Amino acid sequence: MVTAITESHGRISALARNCVQSRRFGGALDLFTASEWQLAQRSEAAELFQLQEARTLKSHEGIRSDFFRMAMASLLSELMLRVAPERESCVDLFKLHANALSALEEFSEQAPPISFLNGYLAKLLQWSGNQPRLQQCLGCSRTLPSLWQEEGTFRLAVIVQEAGWICESCRRSSVLHVRHRSESQGIEMLEVGADAMADFFMSLVTPIRQVPATAHASDASHRELFRVLDALMIYHVPGFDRLPLNSLKFLGLESSWRPPQDSLR
Ligand SMILES: [Zn+2]
Repeated sequence: MVTAITESHGRISALARNCVQSRRFGGALDLFTASEWQLAQRSEAAELFQLQEARTLKSHEGIRSDFFRMAMASLLSELMLRVAPERESCVDLFKLHANALSALEEFSEQAPPISFLNGYLAKLLQWSGNQPRLQQCLGCSRTLPSLWQEEGTFRLAVIVQEAGWICESCRRSSVLHVRHRSESQGIEMLEVGADAMADFFMSLVTPIRQVPATAHASDASHRELFRVLDALMIYHVPGFDRLPLNSLKFLGLESSWRPPQDSLR
């Protein structure tokens, strides 16, 4: 069985007979390889596609030559396979993934920065219609840019369940009840710098390959932002609460994922 994200049919799986023994598809089914597939379906009702021919378009060999690039590409593929709809066109997602893989090849000499991953996650959140309410403080409704002007650099407390954040002064004073409610209901609260949040918004309007060049926050700040985006995905995007992302450990990133309650019994 081979699974791919396609331009016109979303995520599809197909049966590739004898592909291992005969190598009849060459490298066209290798990990991260972009290829053109010819599929057959026995009947309208048949669940499975049969892969008849596959031709390599771009092998992305540069990704496989470096451990961190490969780990990052594996993580992006894991994310994409969860988000992409099955047998349904998703041109935007396809382009995002194709551009991200090409960009990864170009990070020669250096490990891909976390800002790159965050840009990818931000775009997935946006695509899935789960763009959180991150423009303004949940308490005082002041926007990120206006807070920045008034207070300079500052920290945000993200309330994962509400997919929003509160500013430092709201956190100190009027909305302590939010915090207490959060804690008593087990709602996760995470901290992130406003500079990383500003990078988040910038990445929504920046092509994925240019995201690292436009990011201003530090790597440490982007690790915090990753925790926020990861938690938002787990809480708000269907499918992310069931299984952890396997590739995270290779990048030294920690997830907020915990086994769902029902599987603990
Ligand atoms: Zn506020």
